[in-house]
Amino acid sequence: DLYGAERGNSLGLPLWDDATRTPLLAAMIDALRAPATAAPIVSGRAIDTGRTMSIVSPHDRRVVVGTCTLADEKAVDAALDAAKAAAQGWDQLGGAARAAILERAADLFEAARPGLMALLVREAGKTLPNAQSDLREAVDFLRYYAAEARAKFETPVTLPGPTGESNEMSLHGRGVFAAISPWNFPLAIFTGQVAGALAAGNAVVAKPAEQTPLTAAAAISLLHAAGVPGDVLHLLPGPGETVGKALVSDERVDGVVFTGGTDTGKTIAMALAARPGPIPKLIAETGGLNAMIVDSSALPEQVVDDVLRSAFDSAGQRCSALRVLFLQSDIADPVIDMLVGAAQELTLGDPLDYATDIGPVIDAEAKAALEAHKETMRGEARVLFDPKLDPALSHGTFVAPAIFEIPEIGVLEREVFGPILHVVRYDGQRLGEICEAINATGYGLTLGLHSRIKATADFVAERVRVGNIYVNRNQIGAVVGVQPFGGEGLSGTGPKAGGPHYLDAFAVERVRTTNL
Ligand code: GLU
Repeated sequence: DLYGAERGNSLGLPLWDDATRTPLLAAMIDALRAPATAAPIVSGRAIDTGRTMSIVSPHDRRVVVGTCTLADEKAVDAALDAAKAAAQGWDQLGGAARAAILERAADLFEAARPGLMALLVREAGKTLPNAQSDLREAVDFLRYYAAEARAKFETPVTLPGPTGESNEMSLHGRGVFAAISPWNFPLAIFTGQVAGALAAGNAVVAKPAEQTPLTAAAAISLLHAAGVPGDVLHLLPGPGETVGKALVSDERVDGVVFTGGTDTGKTIAMALAARPGPIPKLIAETGGLNAMIVDSSALPEQVVDDVLRSAFDSAGQRCSALRVLFLQSDIADPVIDMLVGAAQELTLGDPLDYATDIGPVIDAEAKAALEAHKETMRGEARVLFDPKLDPALSHGTFVAPAIFEIPEIGVLEREVFGPILHVVRYDGQRLGEICEAINATGYGLTLGLHSRIKATADFVAERVRVGNIYVNRNQIGAVVGVQPFGGEGLSGTGPKAGGPHYLDAFAVERVRTTNL
């Protein structure tokens, strides 16, 4: 059970009571049956473009969970015109008024918990605990960026100057932000991007991942209900190749906030650079090829628990997830034995059972890529754990977790986004080389480290260039305001989401010097 510690009430409400089946669960099950829809929302109104797409459940691809109307060029154009016209007024409203609206949205998100969690389960294939974490993080982003807006965007900072002169520095929105978000946290990352841009005084056009527009549409309607004006926040569901491309090539967009693959991030950067006019801002959070180093002083039981969570929670579909586990040779065999034994106990399947550890991956394309990677590993690596999938799960896009031993991290050229763990043995003398090999991947997102020797922890932490290092715990589930999240190198531009510098990237600074 990956989630023992998380059972219950992270939002302060009971979720599951085996004996009584709480009202919350009953409401969720009702919501699970309701058909959902999404459409382009431009200036608060749904647009019918006549082009629709069905969204099927990753748990069972025979089940249609809803329908999405796709944005067309006209919808993109209308949204950008309205956003451009509304941006200044939203900025002038001030940080405190915007914060109050975002806080109201946080309350509405919490009140809508059964429906939002049901959508996350149905549309994104989340387990119940993962759906709960996604919602909790969305609420945290709303409250955190609201507090930041109030602290930094309401009152200008007075700077020193000669007698008779006043110097005041203030922060303002850049104008219109395009928010391009991924399917792996369809509520949290979608909301975090939108809330960050709004808090800093920007109008926003949001393009959710093609796979998860229903959750995004629910979030937009709550943000509007909380008081974000329709002209300030628009939703444009559709493919990256059309809607995303139109947004990043349009001069009315002053900045882009993007989370997704490194290659797409680069494509966006090139499109922005190729546009006439000013250089727009790009905030990109991209992939990772994350390692964990375990030395012979580590506690094996804790290592096993933290490795399983880091590698297999969310079916490995987190940017932060562990991909390559370095085990010091002296302890490698017993740790691998324990790891494989524990992995055998993981359960895949029923999303409404709180004991389910691993849900499906997002879609058939993701499953095919992961199965192809497993096939390559079967030929090139030592197979440590590679169970067959239960045929009962064949209607969903489930991927059985697997563990392979490889000679070095360099075997992997890119991120493997799913429940596949690679193990590399190392000799204690080679710790410096291991750190260099991790750096040589070019990615720099998360690093796990298990060691009871402080000098080893310091040695590794000083050498490996990553955004988030976790010592003697798992390496996923960064908490807003506690572990600001984001990486370096191929992993992104920064600043970190849920951190004190995030809103600055969405803003311009202005200084007014006055002599009276
Ligand atoms: N913030 C999440 C975590 O720490 C990962 C976000 C992502 O996958 O982009 O696990």
